[in-house]
Amino acid sequence: MPRKFKEIIIIGGGPSGMMAALFALRQGAQVQLLEHNQKLGKKLYITGKGRCNVTNDVQGDEFMNNITRNPRFLYSAMDFLSSQGLRDILRELGCDTLVERGQRVFPVTQKSSDVIRALENGIQEANILLHTKVEEVQQVSDGRFNVLLSDGSSLSADSVVIATGGLSYASTGSTGDGYEFARLLGHRVTDCAGSLVPYETSDSWSRPLQGLTLKNVTLEARIKKKTLFSQQGEMLFTHFGITGPLVLSMSSHLAGLDVDKITCSIDLKPAVSLAQLDERLKTMLQEGGRKQVHSLLSQLMPSSLAAAFPAICPVDMGVQSSQLNASQRMQICQSLKNIPIKLSRARPIAEAVITRGGIDLKDVDPSTMQSKIAPGLYFAGEILDVDGYTGGFNLQIAFSTGALAGYSAAQL
Ligand SMILES: Cc1cc2nc3c(=O)[nH]c(=O)nc-3n(C[C@H](O)[C@H](O)[C@H](O)COP(=O)(O)OP(=O)(O)OC[C@H]3O[C@@H](n4cnc5c(N)ncnc54)[C@H](O)[C@@H]3O)c2cc1C
Repeated sequence: MPRKFKEIIIIGGGPSGMMAALFALRQGAQVQLLEHNQKLGKKLYITGKGRCNVTNDVQGDEFMNNITRNPRFLYSAMDFLSSQGLRDILRELGCDTLVERGQRVFPVTQKSSDVIRALENGIQEANILLHTKVEEVQQVSDGRFNVLLSDGSSLSADSVVIATGGLSYASTGSTGDGYEFARLLGHRVTDCAGSLVPYETSDSWSRPLQGLTLKNVTLEARIKKKTLFSQQGEMLFTHFGITGPLVLSMSSHLAGLDVDKITCSIDLKPAVSLAQLDERLKTMLQEGGRKQVHSLLSQLMPSSLAAAFPAICPVDMGVQSSQLNASQRMQICQSLKNIPIKLSRARPIAEAVITRGGIDLKDVDPSTMQSKIAPGLYFAGEILDVDGYTGGFNLQIAFSTGALAGYSAAQL
């Protein structure tokens, strides 16, 4: 007599694995969730600085515009579990959410532990094996799977969901094991690099600026005439280079590219044109009279940047304001609108918020998350070659792909 339920093993107890477990259980499957940490959701716990930006409330195309890598792959998964669907599930499991600035969604309690607790509530029926490290996944002749564990034992199941995450913040358990499981089963894995990651810079003038935040500036990155990134927002100088929301967003357009070919610059005055800025400077200089030009600079920028400005702009800042000619004035304006930043490299992947690259999507059916190479095998979460900006988009990717993988894996 055929069994009336599927036996499913889910590898990885992060957000994607827990959501896969929830949906598989709701389809009546028998679920074993294997996690090599001592608790579930170790990375989830540190998300959003402990507040967990669980998703983003923007809808439709606007949501997809924030998925910077392979957004089309996500259509079915997002249809299956939208951001509202996720919020409904969390509420049902005891974790209400609220929308904050930038449509970012957080638990009302502002505690990531409450998101984890809610998910744990939903998967009580699963057999959760902590301290359990998977070494390999094998598909056997009848199509079932053997999952080999580090203690030498093995488990078997009809279906396996690989939800082992990426490579960033390896101390949380994401050490990239799943890529190897997939490779051994014949899947392609695209090159992995850190994304949503700070950058080191080699400009000596910027070193003293450590701690300076620039707000409402435009950060731009180009290769020759092709603009890779241009957005307005906030960035921060550090002891090694630059970080902050703008820099993290920029990084998701630069992952894997040769930094030596990239020209990066800051427009300190994006709201005004060059001509408008020139007019403003002209007035300032007239009012400045005999004052040296550099004494006026702090009216145009933070004082620490004003101190570094002579290293950026070739005009002699020691001359009297009234003596500056039109071309020197224009040169200052051009520098204000185009401060060059020499990127030397991205910080290591260990410091990246997410991993760019992963399981090649050509090998995965987007309507089920099932492997096209090994039927019965499913992928979910950051291990897939899909990612987005900060703002809750990456957790939504994990939850939506996890839900769809768990649901699909449970179908008889
Ligand atoms: C500092 C930081 C802050 C972040 N903040 C946000 C945020 O606020 N909002 C947002 O949307 N995204 C955020 N992210 C990204 C988000 O955390 C990830 O996108 C998400 O955790 C991916 O979920 P996942 O389930 O695919 O992988 P993971 O969360 O990495 O979970 C994978 C699990 O698999 C387990 N595992 C791995 N290998 C094995 C093995 N061999 N055997 C058994 N278990 C194994 C790991 O221990 C881990 O628990 C943040 C990331 C970082 C690093």
